[in-house]
Amino acid sequence: MFHFNDQTQFLDNITSLANTYLAPKVMEIDQGYYPLMELEKLGKAGLFAPHLNEYDNRFDLAILANANVGRVCGTSAFVTWCHQVMGLYLDQSQNTSLKSLLDTHKVADTFGGTALSNPMKSWAKIEPMILTAKPCDGGYVVSGTLPWISHIAPRQYCGAVAKIDGADDEVFFVLSFDDDRMGQWQLHECPDFSGMQGSGTLRIELNNYVVQASQIIASPCKDFITRIRGAFVLMQMGIGAGVIMGAIDDIKQGTAVSNAFLEDQAGTLSVELDRLVAKTIALAKTPFETHKDFFLDVLSVREQGALLALKATQSALLHQGAKGYVMSASPQRRVREAHFVAIVTPAIKHIRYLSHQLMGEPQVKPIEFFI
Ligand SMILES: Cc1cc2nc3c(=O)[nH]c(=O)nc-3n(C[C@H](O)[C@H](O)[C@H](O)COP(=O)(O)OP(=O)(O)OC[C@H]3O[C@@H](n4cnc5c(N)ncnc54)[C@H](O)[C@@H]3O)c2cc1C
Repeated sequence: MFHFNDQTQFLDNITSLANTYLAPKVMEIDQGYYPLMELEKLGKAGLFAPHLNEYDNRFDLAILANANVGRVCGTSAFVTWCHQVMGLYLDQSQNTSLKSLLDTHKVADTFGGTALSNPMKSWAKIEPMILTAKPCDGGYVVSGTLPWISHIAPRQYCGAVAKIDGADDEVFFVLSFDDDRMGQWQLHECPDFSGMQGSGTLRIELNNYVVQASQIIASPCKDFITRIRGAFVLMQMGIGAGVIMGAIDDIKQGTAVSNAFLEDQAGTLSVELDRLVAKTIALAKTPFETHKDFFLDVLSVREQGALLALKATQSALLHQGAKGYVMSASPQRRVREAHFVAIVTPAIKHIRYLSHQLMGEPQVKPIEFFI
């Protein structure tokens, strides 16, 4: 259905659509408008497809395309990343019942995100698993509350994981907020965030939510997660690289002569970004590598991406001065977008803690780690 042979044309088309549909609404999105109709246009142009099996798992292309979205709007790029990784889960699942959902998901006829922060942190021994599943006839009954999950709404869905009661394993499933299950799920407003307000982020409350066999992505799921975790993290580079590209654009608009005295200039930041993108693209060639050294490399690139996003957006604000500090200016917005890149799971602190564990360092409590 999509053709990605002409990579440049595909990427240019995503840029053009982002400029046409997202750029005029970027402030509204920052303040809470969830741009589903705009993201549908990007989905129809193939943004959610290159990394799928059908298109030879072109993770590089999916990441570069999402960076073009993030260059315009970091919040939108976060939402599109959520959508991309939900597609990854459906695509890599062995459960053929999920094929029809993948078909609508990849062309943005249906929408859904990912609730994997808590499980990822649980596997990294940062916090306990929140959702619990009790086996029942033909499936599971799941309960628990996830505090903030993005790109969800009634009639949408997300990938979620629950710990199976009495077993040393979990079930990874499609959590659908469909009308038939009213009462089993509730979605609640979150507090106002300093950014990402338009990401459709809500609190999920599940009370005996029935998961049927047709909804199961993987169970047992440890091997499945080991296979996809590198791709999950690597794809976040699309958000980070986009925010950095946008910050470099902002720097180029600064006109003060005194800007020459700032440490980080457009040229030096571009060199750093190009290096990081090259590493990302190289890692994206083996997205399902399970060796821990691969995952360590992915975590390292992801951490460097977050740090560079912080540095580049701060530099853009310093370059534009008061003009960039105006509430409608992009530098102040991008600073908040970069903060999110740095704190969303895996946050910089989680990456360091997890890398420490993976490198086989003696187990230490986090507090000791930083002394
Ligand atoms: C705008 C936004 C959108 C997000 N979207 C998603 C999403 O789509 N999918 C997803 O899975 N996650 C999402 N998250 C969660 C995010 O990835 C982090 O996991 C989350 O912000 C908590 O990480 P942390 O580093 O603050 O927690 P840590 O500092 O690592 O947590 C430390 C401890 O604090 C506890 N803790 C964490 N949060 C709370 C809380 N609210 N109240 C009480 N105790 C708490 C934890 O149990 C943990 O033990 C989103 C968060 C935000 C702010």
